[in-house]
Amino acid sequence: MNIAILGGGIAGLSAAITLKQAGFDVEIYERHPGPSEIGAGIVCWPNAAFVLDQLGVLDEVAQVSGVVSSMNRFSSDGELLGSLDIHTLSSVMGYPSYSIIRKDLMNILSRRVLELGIKLHYQHKVSGLSDNASGQVEVTFENTACIQPDIIIGADGRMNSIARKYVIEDNQPVYQGFINWIGVFESADALFTDSTVSDYWGTGERFGIVPVSSTKAYWAGGVVCEKIGLRDPLMYKQELNALFRHWPSPIDKIINDTAESRINKIYVHDHNPIKTWHRNNVVLLGDAAHSPLPTSGQGACQALEDAWHIANCLKVQSHNLDQAFTQFTQLRVDKTTGITLGGRQLAASIFNQDAEFCRQRNLAAKNTDYKKSVLGMAKGWASGLPMSA
Ligand SMILES: Cc1cc2nc3c(=O)[nH]c(=O)nc-3n(C[C@H](O)[C@H](O)[C@H](O)COP(=O)(O)OP(=O)(O)OC[C@H]3O[C@@H](n4cnc5c(N)ncnc54)[C@H](O)[C@@H]3O)c2cc1C
Repeated sequence: MNIAILGGGIAGLSAAITLKQAGFDVEIYERHPGPSEIGAGIVCWPNAAFVLDQLGVLDEVAQVSGVVSSMNRFSSDGELLGSLDIHTLSSVMGYPSYSIIRKDLMNILSRRVLELGIKLHYQHKVSGLSDNASGQVEVTFENTACIQPDIIIGADGRMNSIARKYVIEDNQPVYQGFINWIGVFESADALFTDSTVSDYWGTGERFGIVPVSSTKAYWAGGVVCEKIGLRDPLMYKQELNALFRHWPSPIDKIINDTAESRINKIYVHDHNPIKTWHRNNVVLLGDAAHSPLPTSGQGACQALEDAWHIANCLKVQSHNLDQAFTQFTQLRVDKTTGITLGGRQLAASIFNQDAEFCRQRNLAAKNTDYKKSVLGMAKGWASGLPMSA
């Protein structure tokens, strides 16, 4: 059976690898001329590390990543509100948690794809999916190419998925009312002693720093913003300084020492969860199926999990696509829906603009039982995978 994967992002590349390893003939079609570089960095939590191990790339990932040890929450005045012990999370789940620059992860996955002899067609922008006269689904590309593969995997992301439009006839993401500026910071001198994540909460504002090595970190500054507005890269630092200049060190340094070219501004969207992920021989994967907010910390991790599950489902039931896709959806929909709703709930709290709400939120953060929280995270993230929790 030949499988066409639409989109060469984290979901598309990782699914190509698992499917090829399962014996399928796979090709990837990506609109860009090379591996996409959108986003700054990712924490590959232990559930993602498990999948990266199955893909045969975990050692390579480990070489360019930080091992996350803890996650500290602070108020915007620098008061410590609490700390999640990520070593415990990792040891309960049996895999480390790796912080990695997104570009590095994309390069590692792309190399593995080529090593396995999978064809990756760049500059193939999908323009439509349609049912042809003989009842097959046809994929057309802007460059006039046209294919009719046995299986079509829609891994074309969250903002304008043509595959999602084909499957549920709607692909409108939902703007969630906040901006994230994301960036990759590199310094000549060592600034970080370990890969402790620092998360600062203000009133309608947030700043997070994730070290990847002693000299490198990715970061995100967020603020509530009612309407989608302009994106002018020349203004990004000014906008960030206006919001975070007086926040605790090293936020100021990180903003101002990050190269302008490595900062991006995103009006953050997600999707309402859906229960139908397939139609005919087309199935959705990654952000095209479920795209949680960055506050979930799980978007890329769930894309990786999809890759592992879809190969397992198709390996057993490739003679009956409807059954394979139904099983895949059943295995994935509750977990990804919970993560999407959890991401929204955390965003509603972090980006709340009511000072009294934020005071109570910070008080609750100080009184949280973080050991219990870590065990809860492990249980949720291990679900559906052969991992302990
Ligand atoms: C600001 C921000 C921060 C984030 N931080 C984290 C994080 O810390 N941890 C985490 O786990 N997740 C994070 N995420 C989420 C994560 O980036 C996504 O969930 C993940 O990239 C999903 O992978 P994907 O392959 O489904 O989609 P994408 O990575 O978006 O890949 C989709 C691919 O499809 C291609 N494509 C799109 N349309 C077409 C077309 N018509 N034809 C051909 N190709 C097409 C695109 O070019 C792209 O290469 C973040 C997201 C945002 C917005």
